[in-house]
Amino acid sequence: MIDLQGVAQRRPSTVGRAARAGAALALALVATGASGTPASPAAPTPRSMAAAEPASATLRVATIGYRLALAAADRCPERTMLTGLVLHDRAAYDERMRGELGGLGWGFGLRDRVAGSPADAAGLRPGDEIVALEGQDMRAYRRGLVTGDGTFARTEAFTALLAATLQDRPAQLRVLRANHESDVIVERRPGCAVGFTLVAGRSLDAWTDGRYLAVTEALAQRADDDALAFAMAHELAHLVLGHTSGPERPFAAFGFGAGPARREEADADRLAIGLAHDAGYDPAGSLRLFEVLRRGGMLRFGLTHPSIRARIAIVTEEIARLSAPAPTSEPALPTGL
Ligand SMILES: [Zn+2]
Repeated sequence: MIDLQGVAQRRPSTVGRAARAGAALALALVATGASGTPASPAAPTPRSMAAAEPASATLRVATIGYRLALAAADRCPERTMLTGLVLHDRAAYDERMRGELGGLGWGFGLRDRVAGSPADAAGLRPGDEIVALEGQDMRAYRRGLVTGDGTFARTEAFTALLAATLQDRPAQLRVLRANHESDVIVERRPGCAVGFTLVAGRSLDAWTDGRYLAVTEALAQRADDDALAFAMAHELAHLVLGHTSGPERPFAAFGFGAGPARREEADADRLAIGLAHDAGYDPAGSLRLFEVLRRGGMLRFGLTHPSIRARIAIVTEEIARLSAPAPTSEPALPTGL
């Protein structure tokens, strides 16, 4: 739907499976004032992210992403273990910012955790610092990744390691809280292998590069939870349906592409209604999202444009199908495949 044009062209060619799996751990953070080109355009770019800022928008994105990824677990091409952790570490900040991180050492800090997630069930709380995994001290882990101006690579590496551990068994974490260390167990919970991130930006955008699913701060601010869930579900639907964006055919911005791309957008809209519903969100949020985008000038041709009318018709039809008494037990599947 609102896939950023050209995102795929900047996709890194070295996305390892481990990193891909680790990306699913609801990594979410606000990147502000980023300079330079991030390794992955949808990836977190935390150079100057402000740890002191409220993590509420970040947590919203992480929560919606977690619920979508959990509900769609059996449909996604790649799965990982969801934890609900929203992490950061000292390496994610430039040297100036590192001085403002309070008590965070070289472990991995909880900015927050998704309610009802394994992290929440384990009793983890914002401000906790993970200092060991399965008895291995994490404070020295991958310190070679630390750079002067900040990188999220170290947190990515840790989340990949944690996900790999959870493939086999629940993970034991040692947590530092108020100068006291204790051990907690994080349970296994499979879900879609994609990371959810909130990124700086005034445009009303959401997109995915297959590894991360990003939404802009502007979209998060203007869309209510159900509308934001539809935007994110649409992007997740592209992954579920195996749509690939590539240099030869990047997803057209907001679905105005011709031919096959337009059909993919319709399929993604259709499936997104079911994905949002399965995750506990009101699919009518899709209609509010279209309205938010229209007011934001994102529908260049306005609501009278046939393709937008068609998309509204699609979601309206799907919503009606969901609320009608089900004549069969068939799940909502996209047509036109
Ligand atoms: Zn799309």
